[in-house]
Amino acid sequence: MRQPYPREARGWHQEWSLRRAMGMGRIAYWESFSAAATDFWMSPEFASLYDRQTPGFAPSAAMRQPDPAESRAVLFAHYVACWTEGRPFAVETRFFNSDGSLLDCVVQGEPEFDPNGQVQRVFGVVRDVTPQASALRRLAESEQRFADFVSTASDWCWESGPDHRLLPYPKSVDGNAALQTVASGGKARWELSFAPEDQAAMALHRGDMEARRPFRDFVYTSIGEDGSRICIRTSGKPIFADDGAFLGYRGTASDITQLEAARALLDERTRALEEAHRLGRIGTWTHRLDSGRTVWSPELYQLLGLEPDAFEPTYEGTKAYFLGDDADRLLRIQARVLRSGNTESTDIRIRHSDGAPRDLAIICKAEIVSGKLVGLIGTAQDVTDRKEAERRLELLAYTDPLTGLANRALFKRKLAGLFETPSADDGHTALLLIDLDRFKEVNDTLGHSTGDSLLVHVAGVLRHELGPQAFIARIGGDEFAVLTDSPSASAEAPVALADRLIAKLSVPVELAEGEACIGATIGIAILPEHGATAEKASRNADLALYMAKEAGRGRAQLFEPVYAEAVDQKLDLGRRLRHAVESGGLQTHYQPQIDLKTGRVSGFEALLRWSHPQRGPIAPSEFIPIAESTGLIVDLGHWVLRDACRQMRSWLDAGLPPRTISVNVSPAQIWNGDFEKVVSTVLAETGLPPELLCLELTESLFVDHTKQKVSTTLAALSKLGIRLALDDFGSGYSSLGYLTRLPFNCLKIDRSFVSGIATVPEKRKLLGGIIALAHGLGMSVVAEGAELAEEVELLGAFDCDCVQGYVFARPVAAGEAVVVAAGIERAGG
Ligand code: C2E
Ligand code: MG
Ligand code: MG
Repeated sequence: MRQPYPREARGWHQEWSLRRAMGMGRIAYWESFSAAATDFWMSPEFASLYDRQTPGFAPSAAMRQPDPAESRAVLFAHYVACWTEGRPFAVETRFFNSDGSLLDCVVQGEPEFDPNGQVQRVFGVVRDVTPQASALRRLAESEQRFADFVSTASDWCWESGPDHRLLPYPKSVDGNAALQTVASGGKARWELSFAPEDQAAMALHRGDMEARRPFRDFVYTSIGEDGSRICIRTSGKPIFADDGAFLGYRGTASDITQLEAARALLDERTRALEEAHRLGRIGTWTHRLDSGRTVWSPELYQLLGLEPDAFEPTYEGTKAYFLGDDADRLLRIQARVLRSGNTESTDIRIRHSDGAPRDLAIICKAEIVSGKLVGLIGTAQDVTDRKEAERRLELLAYTDPLTGLANRALFKRKLAGLFETPSADDGHTALLLIDLDRFKEVNDTLGHSTGDSLLVHVAGVLRHELGPQAFIARIGGDEFAVLTDSPSASAEAPVALADRLIAKLSVPVELAEGEACIGATIGIAILPEHGATAEKASRNADLALYMAKEAGRGRAQLFEPVYAEAVDQKLDLGRRLRHAVESGGLQTHYQPQIDLKTGRVSGFEALLRWSHPQRGPIAPSEFIPIAESTGLIVDLGHWVLRDACRQMRSWLDAGLPPRTISVNVSPAQIWNGDFEKVVSTVLAETGLPPELLCLELTESLFVDHTKQKVSTTLAALSKLGIRLALDDFGSGYSSLGYLTRLPFNCLKIDRSFVSGIATVPEKRKLLGGIIALAHGLGMSVVAEGAELAEEVELLGAFDCDCVQGYVFARPVAAGEAVVVAAGIERAGG
């Protein structure tokens, strides 16, 4: 072996080499000869290496250093122990470098003993291990970071060997038995227990792995021994050694059991919803504001019979399928929903591609995503069947079965509708109320079926004259209402129309049972001038009709506001009259009836008197019709009946001779309720003998109602022993039929027949005939309104039984009546 240096130089050289080597190894040599380290020595290479003029190892100096004080304290403790106990040490510690950075060092020390076994010197080395220590620290940090990621993520990492067996997961995992099985490793994935439905997919996966191909997002369900399941999604890639040898796989996996369950639930619900939509014939649609596109569900295409591939649901494209103005109406609703954010629903009509109309119930909702309006979303349900049923029901509920016209209920609804949605063109609709004249007579004389045919005929005339646009309703027995659709600016046109209708309706009609000749009276209100509400409008049209009737029927009358005043007055009168009835503000006056043969007062007619608080006395001819039209007449009549009977009873009780008391009875009293009972109760209450009560009835009783009710009531009254008189004979129809059929005891000849008999010979003849006829039928005759003595004379000559007239006495209060009667009888001798 070659010796590079001469022997004498070798020692020095070796020391120099040793120092260099220690420098390379970042090792310093140190020694100390006292436990207090006062004579501490360190090889200068180390200090210079780190640019340290004063090596900081001196424990005393180290103690003064604030940081890292702990490691220095440990080092010093070892150093002291080495002195005192002779224990060698090796301590990891840290020093400050001169630039303030920290050096990781290992300080080793050993004692040297003197022959007495006492430590005389401690020496050792300091090794700078900063690079190794920081590498280790970085590794530990990185591992910790990785471990943190893994422990917080639901995913985990896996490895498998060359035989594809999974390596056990290094950490414990929380989860069910299925997850534990996967984590415990030892088997290839396809050797685990997995769901049978994964069979095919697993075979493909195995193929991938055996071919050492990377794979992504393979999903399978692992089953634990206890039957628990976990759904796993995994990806992996093959690992090869540098020499190309296959080492296995590394990959990640995640537990997607909950995700899969949620997805399965969503799928199930979606399927159920689709099924429900199919069954319920519900289609859905969405409209996006950003793209402006509308998208339909397949069901919606089906509802319209359209092909999704061949039809784009744009506004223009769909418009043709809407009926009426439903397309625009829906558009307006959608705009409203976009503005308000509210959900709205409506029904629309569309035409299916097969041409048939369909009804769709639409619900439209604003679609808001993260607080932002993004579009509309809606459903459309085919409700044709329900709507059809509703329409049929409505037809039944709103149609007059006889004429097929709308009935009163529909008329009211239609009229109310006019006021709810004012027409866009600001037009004037005319409301015509048509009342047939003489219809009741036809009905009575030719029978109900003729009446029905006549109504059908009238409906036909109206339809023909007014055209399909007009709304025509039958709102009562012989009452019709028309709402003209064509608005007319002038108020004349509806009157002309009404006149035309009257002319057409007044043409005699040939019916199976004979010719019927009726007419019509029409009241007209223009909407909305003649009434701001449906009620006002129809009331005013009614008023116009009323005025037309008053003016003599067979004419049309346009509403005029002054009528309303007249009606208001009447209503006011009605209210005050009711008050008078209730608070005893009425009086009964009595007018004597004189028996021409004996000259005695055979009876009194009770006549109502009312004094208006402001206007003073009001004639019965004014207030009786009001009482009749307001229904007050029933109470009023009852009151007079009781008052008159009580009066006559008290006269009897006072010893006056028995006289008949005649009480006027309005038709409504007989039509409404049990009049016979009312009369018998009053008789029982007052104790008046029935034969002293005479009820005066007019022919109007027979006009409006079924004969049956009237004749049974009259028969019953007659049976009670009460006398019945037909009042005002000669002023109305003067039908002799009533006289023969009904149990009248007395005929009262109207004043219009009596006055003038002294001067008009024809009247005389007629009067004579009537009296003879009444007598022939077994009735007595009372002549009303005789004002002249000649008239009384003539009446006597015609064998008239009684006279009631101013010629003898005016109607007077009860107290006066007895005096007046006594006077008449005295004068008659
Ligand atoms: P009426 O039942 O025909 O009564 C006879 C009317 O003729 C009475 O009129 C009477 O005052 C009037 N009168 C009698 N003699 C003469 C005469 O010589 N010349 C003239 N110009 N008139 C005469 P009044 O009291 O004004 O009654 C009018 C009508 O009011 C009655 O006609 C009757 O229909 C009705 N009325 C009166 N009181 C009642 C009542 O209590 N109930 C009902 N339902 N109607 C009544
Ligand atoms: Mg009378
Ligand atoms: Mg009369």
